[in-house]
Amino acid sequence: MAGNKTLTMIKPDAVRDGHIGAILNQITEAGFRISAMKLTQLSTADAQAFYAVHAERPFFGELVEFMTSGPIVAAILEKDNAVEDFRTLIGATNPAEAAEGTIRARFAKSIGENAVHGSDSDENAQIEGDFHFAGREQF
Ligand code: ATP
Ligand code: MG
Repeated sequence: MAGNKTLTMIKPDAVRDGHIGAILNQITEAGFRISAMKLTQLSTADAQAFYAVHAERPFFGELVEFMTSGPIVAAILEKDNAVEDFRTLIGATNPAEAAEGTIRARFAKSIGENAVHGSDSDENAQIEGDFHFAGREQF
């Protein structure tokens, strides 16, 4: 059975561009409940750990530099079928390929600076939620 939780980050580009409110509005209008949320900034070690699965990829250095370049909003979102439904809401990694009206189609600049993160499995949603939030910060 699909889980009911996913982890999102509003990435530094979208925070810099003033899109926090519009993105959170689109997320809640789509039926997600925010069960944890904060404005924070990743250290280099944090970003390397969070994206460790991509360590061997050619874009890893660029990804870590970008993700540490300014504050992000991290949030845990709840809804039936959360991981899959949230990835539908955000659209393809490359905004040029993201469906019209998706968060990345509306707010992302490029495949690197793509406005939002969404967990890719129930297992990673749990790991990523616990990466950002202590138990007493999850409601
Ligand atoms: P995310 O994990 O951030 O939700 P995703 O699951 O759609 O994105 P991944 O394949 O997990 O995509 O890649 C993680 C992130 O690495 C992307 O969101 C993007 O910021 C960056 N990235 C992926 N591919 C490239 C690329 N070819 N060039 C530059 N950056 C990339
Ligand atoms: Mg991913």
